[in-house]
Amino acid sequence: MEYAKNILETIGNTPLVKLNKLTADLPCLVLAKYETFNPGNSVKDRMALQMVEDAEADGRLKPGGTIVEGTSGNTGMGLALAAIVKGYKMICVTTDKQSKEKIDILKAVGSEVHVCPTDVAPDDPRSYYSTAKRLGEEIPNSWYVNQYDNPSNAKGHYLSTGPEIWEQTDGKVTHFVVGVGTGGTISGVGKFLKEQNPRVKVWGVDTYGSVFKKYHETGIFDEKEIYPYITEGIGEDILPKNVDFHIIDGFTKVTDKDAAVYTQRLAKEEGMFLGNSAGAAIKGVLQLKEHFKEDDVVVVLFHDHGSRYVGKMFNDDWMREQGFIK
Ligand code: PMP
Repeated sequence: MEYAKNILETIGNTPLVKLNKLTADLPCLVLAKYETFNPGNSVKDRMALQMVEDAEADGRLKPGGTIVEGTSGNTGMGLALAAIVKGYKMICVTTDKQSKEKIDILKAVGSEVHVCPTDVAPDDPRSYYSTAKRLGEEIPNSWYVNQYDNPSNAKGHYLSTGPEIWEQTDGKVTHFVVGVGTGGTISGVGKFLKEQNPRVKVWGVDTYGSVFKKYHETGIFDEKEIYPYITEGIGEDILPKNVDFHIIDGFTKVTDKDAAVYTQRLAKEEGMFLGNSAGAAIKGVLQLKEHFKEDDVVVVLFHDHGSRYVGKMFNDDWMREQGFIK
């Protein structure tokens, strides 16, 4: 018999899938690292398990403990799965910008969810960063994960996602393109790939309303870059420790409208029913066209599943309200 001993053993080893229609105008091969095959339907299962196991190993997380995290949903799902299998309580702190589906899904896997306002500064006591940190201090035997600054986040990708991409492409990958939020995915995968072949180029996909691109290009943390945006999962108003700017060759910014429209197009034209950051990521690849030549192998990572966006990017009434479609 061949079976996994628990759901956590099914994390990773996701397929690499060729894009065909949306990328028809590009000279190169474009392959999607298709992370919705993870049990929590997102890449975040990988780093969640790494963060939990590293915290268990050095005693930050003790038997019967409570895991507290500020999460837009996917990290919460990954942590919740680890908490269930390993016997911890899970508390997720999120913002009122997140889709209702994401919040309901966290509750479905036994997590307690606290919803905080989006339009407050990160250091405001009402922000989800501050609330998660405070709960981690107040609740006895609890551990505040802090995926933004926790080095096990990028480490998880360095140890699993990166090596998988290298092996699946027989070392032929030339470019890695991915949306950036905490920075764990780009930094961990990018570091691994560049260690194998320093010529691999690593591109981050950013949103309008986020600080990354300007900071990377100028070294200036420009508060004028910060304003509310719709795209989910990527872009930040802080500089997380997990973003290793030295590993990244450049950023491209994708508009909210393009990210939403391309999320729909991935589903309708490639049969890839994915989250909003996948739409941003594939539009980012198309924007980088001039950087690619014929024999290049471009890997773009798609973070999560479309089911979490049925009330938004997959709802034409919502798309019209935003002015994204007519
Ligand atoms: N897409 C989605 C849907 C996400 O949840 C996240 C995590 N915030 C990202 C992209 C960005 O990944 P990372 O945090 O590793 O930079």
